[in-house]
Amino acid sequence: MLIQEKNEIPFFQFSAFEAYPDVRHGIFTRSGGKSLSPFDSLNVGYGLGDNEDNVAANRQRIAHCMDDAELIFTRQVHGAEVLVIDSEEADKDGIKAGPGMGDAMVTDVRGKTLAIQVADCQPVFLFDPVGKVVANVHSGWRGSIQNIVGRSVAVLAERFGSLPGNIIAGVGPSLGPCCAEFVNYRREIPESLWGYKHRSVFFNFWALTRDQLRDAGLPASNIEIGGICTKCHGDRFFSYRQNNLTGRFAAVIGLK
Ligand SMILES: [Zn+2]
Repeated sequence: MLIQEKNEIPFFQFSAFEAYPDVRHGIFTRSGGKSLSPFDSLNVGYGLGDNEDNVAANRQRIAHCMDDAELIFTRQVHGAEVLVIDSEEADKDGIKAGPGMGDAMVTDVRGKTLAIQVADCQPVFLFDPVGKVVANVHSGWRGSIQNIVGRSVAVLAERFGSLPGNIIAGVGPSLGPCCAEFVNYRREIPESLWGYKHRSVFFNFWALTRDQLRDAGLPASNIEIGGICTKCHGDRFFSYRQNNLTGRFAAVIGLK
C-alpha cells in the first residue's frame, strides 16, 4: 500500500489501483479529525458515543479529500447483504444518511463514493476496470464465514456483466493473523474453515479472503492484501480488539 496525504489528512491507497485514473479510493486512519479521546480523531462512526457534530465534520473532511464526492454509508450489521447503489438511491444528504442496511455496496454510477466503517474488520475493494464498476465490502469474521466477498463478486458478474478475471481487489488494514484470536472458534467458526487456524487459536482471515476471491474467479495477481494489522497498529487505526470503546476509520472507493 502507498501512503498519501491531502489537506494534512493521511490515507492509504492500493498500488493495484494506481494505473486507473477513473477510480478514487482511500483508506483513512485515525488521524486528521476533530473527535476527542477515545475517538481521536477521524472517527466516522455514529452511535458509538462520539459527538455527532464531530463525526459529521470528520465525514466532511474525508469527502473533501475525495474531491468532494458524495459519500454513501450504510448501516452495517455483520451480514452478507450486497446493496446495489443506483443513481436514485441514497439520500441527497448521502454523506450522513445511507441507502439502508447492508455490509457491501456496488455501484457503476460515477460520483457515488461508497464508504465502509471499520475497526479490525476487513475493508475489501473490488474494481472492474473494463465494466467500470466498484464495490466496497465490510468483511468481519462473520462476513468472512458467509463469504460476503464472493457474493459481491457474484453481484458484479450477474448484475453488471463483470468478468471475474478482470476484477482487481484490495484488502485493507484489518485484524491480521498475528492478532485474530478466536478462543471460542469451535462454536463460532465452521469446521470447514479450521484450516485457516495457523497456531493455537489464531486464524488467518486475510488468507481466507484471498482464497474466496480466487474461488470467485480473480487471478492471484489481481489481489492486493495490504498486510497491515490494525491491532498491532492501534496508534494509527481504530482497533476494537485493542480498545472496545473506540472509533471507526473509513475505507472509501468510487468512480470519478
Ligand atoms: Zn497484529
